[in-house]
Amino acid sequence: MSIYQTRCKRVQEGMHELGIDVLFVAPSSDLVYLSGIHTFTSERLALFVLPANGDPLMVVGQLEASMSQPHATFFALRTWTDGADPYALVRSALPQDCRRIGVTDQIWGIHVLRLQAALSNTTFVSAASVLTPLRQIKDATEIAALRRSGAAADAALADILSRPLIGKSEKQVSREIAELCLAHGHQRAGFGIVASGPNSGAPHHMNSDRLLQKGDAVVLDFGGAYDDYASDITRSVFLGAPPDEYRRIYEVVRQAQEAAFQAVRPGAPCQDVDRAARGVIAAAGYGEYFIHRTGHGLGLDGHEEPYMIEGNTLPLAPGMVFSDEPGIYLPNRFGVRIEDIVVVTESGAGRFNHAPRELRVL
Ligand code: ZN
Ligand code: ZN
Ligand code: ZN
Repeated sequence: MSIYQTRCKRVQEGMHELGIDVLFVAPSSDLVYLSGIHTFTSERLALFVLPANGDPLMVVGQLEASMSQPHATFFALRTWTDGADPYALVRSALPQDCRRIGVTDQIWGIHVLRLQAALSNTTFVSAASVLTPLRQIKDATEIAALRRSGAAADAALADILSRPLIGKSEKQVSREIAELCLAHGHQRAGFGIVASGPNSGAPHHMNSDRLLQKGDAVVLDFGGAYDDYASDITRSVFLGAPPDEYRRIYEVVRQAQEAAFQAVRPGAPCQDVDRAARGVIAAAGYGEYFIHRTGHGLGLDGHEEPYMIEGNTLPLAPGMVFSDEPGIYLPNRFGVRIEDIVVVTESGAGRFNHAPRELRVL
């Protein structure tokens, strides 16, 4: 039995428990997870149909069938040609007594609406209730991929920090980071935030033409996909001699990041990780400047469950992988964030990023 078949079987067990008759899986990380199929989403319906009993089915436009074909070992491929009604095709493939249908989070609204119109007497619910519990616990293959992904991000970081940055624009540095991610084996360079000087005071800054200069705090936050699995790392550096306030804040963030890491152990609620980081930052008097959650899960998606945020009482379990990324942002002045990807182990936690976390002055 392939890994995909095993995953589908486990999802089917969850569907039985939750009373979901059929799962609609659109092209997305969920589809990769369940079938290995990499295809894109568009106005042409492509849909993996997984019934609670029996074999799945992939409905796809004929001209895009070749991307699904190699994986069609345990499911049937049902193609449709332009001009045909793919929604009617899906309807004809459903079991008679189909009432509750789970749809994946990532699906175009137009497809949901047309499927609903074609399927009266059915209720659509979120498929996340069956998929998330499985996807948030990474198996050994996934852990290995995430480890490689983290190492590649570390290597790209080391390379970019060995280059002169002063005089380059944020956009230029971001382009170089993307090239380095690819050079180090990423299949895709995702995002690359380069926030310099006052721009670093905004956690999700949009890269500009601003030239990096001496006296700048710089936040570099980037990631992509490696063997399908996301990478995501942040380091904050200073160009030239940093003022005392920057040094102080950097040290607070570094300690907060470490405190969150130390809070990671099986059974601890996710919010404890957030509280650990937030406690350090609040105690230093910067609580109001830490304006985002401490971390997000990471896997086939760059942001996925579980989230390290106040209110999330989900207990951590071995195999969970997420970011540890506290920050302090003084608006229009400077910001500091340090981010590593961590994994919950049987005894505590491990890191997938090993780039130095001490203050780097370039
Ligand atoms: Zn972010
Ligand atoms: Zn990041
Ligand atoms: Zn992140």
